[in-house]
This record gives sequence, structure tokens and C-alpha cells, in this order.
Amino acid sequence: PELRELLLGRIKDVQDYPKPGVVFKDITPLLADPKAFAALTEALVELAVRYGATKIVGLEARGFILAAPVAVQAGIGFIPVRKAGKLPGATLAQSYELEYGTAEIEVHAEDLSDGDRVMVIDDVLATGGTAEASLELIRRAGAEVAGVAVLMELSFLPGREKLAPALGDAPLDAL
Ligand code: IMP
Repeated sequence: PELRELLLGRIKDVQDYPKPGVVFKDITPLLADPKAFAALTEALVELAVRYGATKIVGLEARGFILAAPVAVQAGIGFIPVRKAGKLPGATLAQSYELEYGTAEIEVHAEDLSDGDRVMVIDDVLATGGTAEASLELIRRAGAEVAGVAVLMELSFLPGREKLAPALGDAPLDAL
């Protein structure tokens, strides 16, 4: 409860961004507060340990910021899942549906393999499309999904339900 209050107090609602009618959750005040950022990192490290994760995947772009210090503190590797066209090596790609159109994410194929237990970290779970596509990538690479952790779940959207089949028995935690 204390952590929740600390984190919620550092997330700003921005009206009508990126378009009219949308309320954007801005995490930059949290990142600028070293106590809050450290508390978030610590909580995510605890989850990484609980999940038994052997790799940390961060989802571009805010997921990178949250996941990198967790990987360093937990002493395990960080793997970026990027938007299409940004990774130089051989990749696995997965497309998914947006409100209008589709998007595609990629991972370096050699970064994940059999026996890896992967924790996925992102800032916000909204419709669940991005996280779901990342889980597909992880499985297609032969690795196992250890769990998904997000700073925030927009509980007025059915992201958790959308993600459920791809999660299987793996946990989804929203801090
Ligand atoms: P989803 O695929 O609809 O679940 O959207 C999740 C992705 O969009 C995540 O990578 C988030 O970073 C981003 N996102 C969606 N809504 C917000 C928001 O209100 N604040 C920050 N990021 C958001």
C-alpha cells in the first residue's frame, strides 16, 4: 500500500494526449524522483526473484528505462524488444493489432533460447496487445515466459483478459 501511494503520487495524468479524449499516464515525474524510482526498481527485482527469471525483456521505449536497472540489480541479462526495423541482427518479428492498423515488434533471435525464463517489463498495460506480442516472440524463440510486470495496469481496459491465454500459468503483476 505504501509503495502504491508513492508510485501513484509520481504519475501524472495528461489530458488529451496523444489525441483528444485520451488521458496519458506520464511516468516522467517518477523517473525524476530517485526515491520513487529506486522503490519501483526494488519491487521489480523482488518479482524477478519470485519469478525465477533468467532474462529480463524490456518493451520499447519506457519499458527499457524500467527494466535496465532491474536487470543490473538482479544480475541477469537485459534484452530489448524493439519496434520493427531498429535491431541490426537477425530477428524474430511479431505483428499485432492497434486501434487503427497494425504494429510490429522484434527481438534478436540469438538473445533468447531454450531454458531461458523470461520476465517482461513495461510501464503501462493498456489493451494488452504489445505485451501479448512480446510473449509470442519469447515462446517462438523457444524460451519460457516467467512473468509480466508492469508499473500500471489500466483496469478500465481488458488488457489482463486479453493477455490471459498467452500468459498461461505465468503471473501478471501490476505495481
Ligand atoms: P497496449 O499494447 O494497448 O497494452 O499499450 C501498451 C503500450 O502502450 C505500452 O508499451 C505503453 O508504454 C504504451 N502506453 C499506452 N498507454 C499509455 C499511457 O497512458 N502512458 C504511457 N504509455 C502508454
